[in-house]
Amino acid sequence: MSISSPTPSTEQGQIYRNFIGGEWRNSQSGETFVSTNPAHTSEVIGRYQKSTAADIEDAIDVAVKAQPGWAATPAPERGEILLRAALLLDEEKEELATLMTREMGKLLKETRGDVQTAIDVAKYVAGEGRRAEGETVPSALPNKFCMTMRQPIGIVGIITPWNFPLAIPAWKTFPALLAGNAVVLKPASDTPLLVLKLADILQRAGLPTGVLNVVTGPGGTLGDALVSNKRVNMISLTGSTEVGRRVAEICGRDLRRCALELGGKNAVIVLEDADLDLAVASVTLGAFGTTGQRCTATSRVIVQKSVQKVFTDRLVAAAEKLRVGDGLDPDVDMGPLVNTGRVKAVQEYAEIGKQEGAKLVLGGSPLTGGDYREGAYYEPTIFTDVAPSMRIAREEVFGPLLSIVPIDSYEEAIKVANSTEYGLSTAIFTESSRLSFRAMRDIESGLVYINAPTTGAEIHMPFGGMKASGNGHRELGKKAVEDFSETKTIFVSYPARK
Ligand code: NAD
Repeated sequence: MSISSPTPSTEQGQIYRNFIGGEWRNSQSGETFVSTNPAHTSEVIGRYQKSTAADIEDAIDVAVKAQPGWAATPAPERGEILLRAALLLDEEKEELATLMTREMGKLLKETRGDVQTAIDVAKYVAGEGRRAEGETVPSALPNKFCMTMRQPIGIVGIITPWNFPLAIPAWKTFPALLAGNAVVLKPASDTPLLVLKLADILQRAGLPTGVLNVVTGPGGTLGDALVSNKRVNMISLTGSTEVGRRVAEICGRDLRRCALELGGKNAVIVLEDADLDLAVASVTLGAFGTTGQRCTATSRVIVQKSVQKVFTDRLVAAAEKLRVGDGLDPDVDMGPLVNTGRVKAVQEYAEIGKQEGAKLVLGGSPLTGGDYREGAYYEPTIFTDVAPSMRIAREEVFGPLLSIVPIDSYEEAIKVANSTEYGLSTAIFTESSRLSFRAMRDIESGLVYINAPTTGAEIHMPFGGMKASGNGHRELGKKAVEDFSETKTIFVSYPARK
């Protein structure tokens, strides 16, 4: 059945449909799944289509038909649609941010930032429609001209996580569309609503039918169906390293392109000459902002022993003051985790930390009872005297749990910072320009911050990780459109006629 309205069919905002071929369609499965507010788990945010491989197939059929017409549309016109989407996102920013807080729990100021990122990316990428430049370079031969041009890849499958429900889908979808591709997008099951809203906005902005399609449902079956489909020319996934490996294996078999943004175990190095107030404020934000659920969240502090105690005391004092609660409450500093399963996962890591012999100096338990009785709440948690070999120093927790690792020297700090499989974001706090420059060179991560938190990406700068945090691609910045394009190299010869 196809329905022309994106609006939910009941007053409670309950049933949302897939967006395929410009229509709102039920899944062929006839089944739905529910997403709830993590601050009040009895509050249902929406009921979404539990789609199957057959729905993915339908979406790909439609995308394949729509893509050539879209590719033939001049790139500046494609950009104009994104610009109109930016204006609509801006008009609806407050409503989208509030929905997002209810859907996944982060603070209203954080969800406003998430929507603003989507707006900024739309404006930035729209401008690329009038650039989308290639290179023209001198030929090594006489009477010859060399240039490159970009062409669409074709059909792009996009798979997104729940922690940036709008920003990440937007920063993948906009450059993919600008490059002339058609898209099939599968959002995370905790946060399908904001992606369906994005589809609605792009349709209202004038995106032609079938160029963007959204199918909701379980990651395993649906993700596999999208990734395995040979008509999908490229997969762009942000998610865990485990899922990334699987996706890379499947795409690798057919030599199809996949761009992966994966997990992290991000470290802040605090040297003895650091501005400790700045370091404490930055670590508090990096570790407990978005309840520790950013891929760039600070998960380790590697601190020189001479300042370990004073730094830890100040950090614990700052973290103790954080008010945990519903992200819609303006007095709250840290919202819930995305669901109760994540509370269990963080609790398991707290137990592992204790068993491994690390010293718990703050938190370490779920928050229950009273205002917390029906939410996915967890205390800001800090372990100190953590050894680099411990699991809480090596594995991604993805929650408000921080491990402090004491070290003796700059050299040891770098060795520990680089000792995990990940390489997404690392910060160093020092007043020494000599050590700052050495750190820029020595740190093995895609993002390096000097005297700033691990979490401050900017949309006009490349974003992505080294090692197991990705597969070498970068998102955002001026290369974003290129990543969703084929580069064609052209040689034109114009010798004189003999
Ligand atoms: P996840 O890997 O569980 O899921 C990510 C997406 O993949 C979801 O849409 C999910 O449904 C889908 N999926 C699950 N199994 C799949 C499969 N077999 N095939 C295809 N798709 C599948 O991750 P998550 O819990 O949604 O997000 C948290 C993770 O994402 C963390 O590891 C975090 O570090 C990472 N992340 C990375 C970045 C980055 O830019 N590097 C940004 C945000 C989040």
